[in-house]
Amino acid sequence: TPALSVRDAVLEYPDGDNGVLRALDGVSLDLLPGSYTAMVGPSGSGKSSLLAVAAGLITPTSGTVTVAGREITGLTRGERTALRGKEIGMIFQQPNLIASLTAREQLELTVHLDEDATRADKKAARSRAMELLERVDLAGQADQRPHQLSGGQRQRVNIVRALMASPALLLVDEPTSALDRERSAAVVALLGELTRDAGVATLMVTHDHEFLSATDRTLTMVDGRLQD
Ligand code: ADP
Ligand code: ADP
Repeated sequence: TPALSVRDAVLEYPDGDNGVLRALDGVSLDLLPGSYTAMVGPSGSGKSSLLAVAAGLITPTSGTVTVAGREITGLTRGERTALRGKEIGMIFQQPNLIASLTAREQLELTVHLDEDATRADKKAARSRAMELLERVDLAGQADQRPHQLSGGQRQRVNIVRALMASPALLLVDEPTSALDRERSAAVVALLGELTRDAGVATLMVTHDHEFLSATDRTLTMVDGRLQD
């Protein structure tokens, strides 16, 4: 089963008195587990809208979205939030880490906020967090807080935090916009390695056309439509 399946998604926003703005104009897309897909396109073409629809943050005006075999269009808001926590990891432009928490605690936070989490769950989260930090060469920084980390290290923490719950789908919005070229290339390559290791389907919005060779496929969004 595809990790993400979007069928004929249309997303309209109210525009002016009676008009509508079509941010997505009939988008269909399948992402298979372990695939790494880049999405490029001009500003305002609908890239963020597609990420938001895929994440279940916005319900499309029409069309369906299925994540890991479950159709999310039609679920309640609470059900979508629960599914997002399990099956969807999200990475934004800026690593939005919490200043007072160590690298390891950033990764463990979700479990600690979960009232139903048992001691065994917390223990499992701790070993998973350490495993992921080791995977991105940050085991030695596990007890450091964001201000003690470099920009690239913070982005690596941000990336593995999104993988904590072993999601089927990873949605990434311009992960390199705050980094220099060398670190950007490293982050794009790392996302590819993690995608294959974890068998997650990764969809990454980027403006960096020079890094597209690291991905399996590039989609171009133009006026709310996807072109391969
Ligand atoms: P991109 O991510 O490619 O820059 P967006 O998905 O952010 O494009 O936007 C697509 C179109 O939808 C743009 O015309 C944008 O102005 C419009 N849009 C995005 N979000 C909203 C919103 N919340 N309300 C109204 N229009 C929006
Ligand atoms: P990006 O270039 O990263 O896609 P944008 O500047 O297009 O970012 O959009 C940033 C945020 O503002 C998004 O959450 C988008 O939905 C919202 N947004 C974009 N255009 C509009 C708009 N015309 N009206 C309201 N919200 C908008």
